[in-house]
Amino acid sequence: MKTESDNTYSTLDQNSPKKFFTTITYGCQMNENDSERLSGQLKSIGYEYSDNLEEAAIILINTCCVRESAEKKIYGKIGELKRLKAVNPNLIIGITGCMAQKDRDKLFKKAPHIDLVMGTHNVHQLVELIKEVEESKGKVLAVWEQAERLAPNVPTVRKGQIAAWVPIMYGCNNFCTYCIVPYVRGRERSRPLQDIIDEIKQLGDNGFKEITLLGQNVNSYGKDSQEADFADLLQAVDKITNVERIRYMTSHPRDMNAKVIEVIRTSKKICEQFHLPIQSGSDTILKKMNRGYTTQYYRELVQQIRTAIPDAAITTDLIVGFPGETDELFEETLEFIKSIQYDAAYTFLYSQRSGTPAATMPDQLPLAVKKERLQRLMAAQNDISLELNKRLEGCTVEVLVEGLSKTDQNKWMGRTRTNKIVIWEKRGTEQVGQLVQVNISTAQTWLLKGTLVE
Ligand code: SF4
Repeated sequence: MKTESDNTYSTLDQNSPKKFFTTITYGCQMNENDSERLSGQLKSIGYEYSDNLEEAAIILINTCCVRESAEKKIYGKIGELKRLKAVNPNLIIGITGCMAQKDRDKLFKKAPHIDLVMGTHNVHQLVELIKEVEESKGKVLAVWEQAERLAPNVPTVRKGQIAAWVPIMYGCNNFCTYCIVPYVRGRERSRPLQDIIDEIKQLGDNGFKEITLLGQNVNSYGKDSQEADFADLLQAVDKITNVERIRYMTSHPRDMNAKVIEVIRTSKKICEQFHLPIQSGSDTILKKMNRGYTTQYYRELVQQIRTAIPDAAITTDLIVGFPGETDELFEETLEFIKSIQYDAAYTFLYSQRSGTPAATMPDQLPLAVKKERLQRLMAAQNDISLELNKRLEGCTVEVLVEGLSKTDQNKWMGRTRTNKIVIWEKRGTEQVGQLVQVNISTAQTWLLKGTLVE
């Protein structure tokens, strides 16, 4: 782990016994980034990270409630910790993130061995809350109903060595009918432009090469502050000289516009990957989802992007089995993905989340139907991804070296600007964080294989 707050160690007594913490993170990149901020705060008060739950003095479970399956898994994990608490009553177990925001003190009732429940708006308060638990030896609940406009910056420990996430905004105003996020993450709050620029420059100074701008709906950045819009932000971060690549996620198709496309077309560092979650290829379902666009609008948007940037990769998210999705409406989605030709799609079963409007809609579908549709959708998309990747055979692409391949230590792994994974034989000259050229010889559905061009 790489820290941006090493100076915080200078005040610690180097002779005191080591104290360890563990974070277990579920869910999206926003949660991963929150865990980095939780880790940074604990490091600043002298704790060190350990994967070993047995030696941890603090265990934080950073939770997700977007899907029912995630929640079940998390409750299972919380249950497992009971054994550790019985052995070590001083162990502090904290539940943070979206489930903590949603379930609040219910968590104490379901799992009495929990000491701390901390909501999504309270991440910056971790140090004082841990002290409160230590001093009171009782249960501490810290779940603000609403966020402060912007939480103060806190020390952050980065998980990666070359790629880092930088939140640019928090919350979401869209209220898609299936989604719990606006209820647990609050309304949109954009970070000041200069704060974002300063953080990226500092990451560049610390050796990071690739930055992903994070938010639930990044392209509505600035709507709440009027300081700068998303295109202005991209233009500003493109000028930062000490990083190589800028990515962003997730963007909403309705908020993508010609100004953003033009900035990406003319920029050097903003990668040509457009992740535009369509969710369904049926206008009937899109309306029920409250997505705010039609398939016709979306087709025109894709056309606009491909005209401006012919090599751009277009990826998406899809939900199958939304209430009321008939066989015919599902076929519309299949036809839609075939006509758009996505480079990749992340496909999900619709999950009924209580508190969202879709949860009480009629015509909820049986799991077996959802699963069968998911298989068909994935098979169709895999064929498309393979066909598009095959077009890269014989081409030379720019790759950022990320590290050794997980399955073969004699090979390197990196990504193209369009976020495709590339594997190639080690030559000994490459270094992590370097930009290299790789000639693609074999394309598969999920990765490209090639040879280093020297
Ligand atoms: S845009 Fe829709 S799906 Fe995305 S976080 Fe907001 S409400 Fe949820």
